[in-house]
Amino acid sequence: MEETLSKRFVYTKEFDEKYRYDGKDLGAVCKNGHTIFKVWSPTAEQVELYLYRDGKSDTYRREQLRPGEKGVWSLEFAENMHGLYYDYFIMNNGKSLRTADPYAVGCGCNGERSMVVDLSLTDPEGFDQDRAPERPEENIIYELHIKDFSHDPESGVPEEYRGKYMAFTVSGKSGDHPTGMEYLKQLGVTHIHLLPFYDYGFTDEAGDHNQFNWGYDPVNYNVPEGTYATDVDNGLVRIRECKEMIQALHANGLRVVMDVVYNHTYEEDSCLNRTVPGYYYRRWANGKLSDGSACGNDVAAGRAMVDNYIADSVMYWAKEYHIDGFRFDLMGLLTVELMNRIRKELDAEFGEGEILLYGEPWRATESPMEEGTHAALKSNVHLLDEGVAMFSDDTRDVIKGNVFYEEEPGFVNGASGLEERVLCAPTGWKDAYEGFAPKSCGQIINYVSAHDNFTLWDKFVLSMHGPKALNGKAGEADYTKKYEDVLAVNKLSALIYFTCQGHLFMQAGEEFGRTKLGDENSYRSDPAINMLDWKRTEEYSELVDYYRGLIRLRKRMTGLTCKSADADKYITDKKVLGEKLVSFQVENPGAEMERLFVVYNASDGEATVALPEGTWFVLADAQITDCCKPVAGSDNTVRVAAQSGMILGRKAE
Ligand code: CA
Repeated sequence: MEETLSKRFVYTKEFDEKYRYDGKDLGAVCKNGHTIFKVWSPTAEQVELYLYRDGKSDTYRREQLRPGEKGVWSLEFAENMHGLYYDYFIMNNGKSLRTADPYAVGCGCNGERSMVVDLSLTDPEGFDQDRAPERPEENIIYELHIKDFSHDPESGVPEEYRGKYMAFTVSGKSGDHPTGMEYLKQLGVTHIHLLPFYDYGFTDEAGDHNQFNWGYDPVNYNVPEGTYATDVDNGLVRIRECKEMIQALHANGLRVVMDVVYNHTYEEDSCLNRTVPGYYYRRWANGKLSDGSACGNDVAAGRAMVDNYIADSVMYWAKEYHIDGFRFDLMGLLTVELMNRIRKELDAEFGEGEILLYGEPWRATESPMEEGTHAALKSNVHLLDEGVAMFSDDTRDVIKGNVFYEEEPGFVNGASGLEERVLCAPTGWKDAYEGFAPKSCGQIINYVSAHDNFTLWDKFVLSMHGPKALNGKAGEADYTKKYEDVLAVNKLSALIYFTCQGHLFMQAGEEFGRTKLGDENSYRSDPAINMLDWKRTEEYSELVDYYRGLIRLRKRMTGLTCKSADADKYITDKKVLGEKLVSFQVENPGAEMERLFVVYNASDGEATVALPEGTWFVLADAQITDCCKPVAGSDNTVRVAAQSGMILGRKAE
């Protein structure tokens, strides 16, 4: 290079202006019988390519890359090098460090060595015909960890596929009872949101199958994780099997959301940092690494090449792997500008709103953002594109109580005085309070449980029967006991968020009382604690049926599925009828039931509620969902059981 760049220079706008590279050809690209290596490193004094015949043997060839425009180093070979492994020795400030290629699309065991991949040779049969199912009436998202899905021997998945991508490619029946993919299909959800499956650290890919991690430790952003592959040593296997998983989900009518973690990397000593030291991470003015992720480092979204890296990576997964949606971990550490850009780029490529985007609108602690950018936090929802949604902690917490205090109840499990507040949830918190102004309910993800914190079942067992329970029933929490009142409030919770405008999201197993036996943070717990316990789908089949009915019903509740900016007009007559008892009506345009009447009764007693004018049918009550029963009696009232919800419908004339 013509100059030696000081470490500080990489943080400046001048650096970004001078070296921003918008080409989409970084990495090792096989094309027309040639292979071109390109890596962006304006700070490098020398870049040397090491080639290997496999993931383990010594190098057989070394070549110098040549510096070019914008800090891009490159080298072209007149051969297709598909299947070879490589890494770089990059010299910065006189010191040469070995690194994997941050732009690699393949890698060997544990992501240490990159792999040259001719992507056209990695597709499973029929992948070129693979299409996502039609866009559904509603987005009902099911959050699932790949290993959790099939670790259980009762999953109906053959042993060699348990915990792997391939588990999704078998029907997974266990006797007469649907499990695995067959179960997912019958549940009726529309999107399977998979916890991170890009290459992550922490677990040893060559280690045993009892290792477990959620996967929020990114190493190679554009390569699938190896522990889910049937062969970790051949880098092509993880690519093909990951595609087979997605293809199988599509073939079974399910869209696929990828959980992405661009806010931090496993370690600061990453391939990004070894390629351009300092550039990819945020630091405070005093030089201290920022840690808004509480994972040790924050990726510096807001810098030109960081944003390019993230946007290109998202586009890569959408195009190459046919991903239909992205869930951004700690989105509050990324910027509004970047999220809106990703929205625009995806819309341009796939059509408006075709790819779902949502994220966590928070961060663990403060982080020094780039000048002129806005953090993609909840408080900035009005700056985000309408097509960028966020998890609603308001919906979650008003229903079941604070996630950080096990004993603290919400509306359904004992709290008083939340009647007005719970009535804000159905309209997606529109105009609910100062400082939060979503453009439409399309920006809201309604949920009551996710991988973080206690499962819904465990939270209810603890808050209603645990040692700190405030309802007079305090005792020894027994997570394996089928408490009738826990079952009741679980159903009520579901009925509440299924009658809220916005997208719907649930943790896998919420519908069968999933328990982690009180493990509040199971990110590296035993897979037996984390796995879906398929026997429970039979034991709690009543609850599964309840959810299944709500899912079917939801798709026909047009006044609730509408995502337009004025969708809240369909919700009328919100009323507090008594303590822990509320109701509202929903106009249901174009549907068989032109009007809905919804009651939430969180009290301990049965409630008698007067019906609005007309002939009403019960569509869901404490016991059953997606029914159509005439209301019993003739005095124009309806009896709503204790700790239950009810949805009634009035037919169009
Ligand atoms: Ca890995």
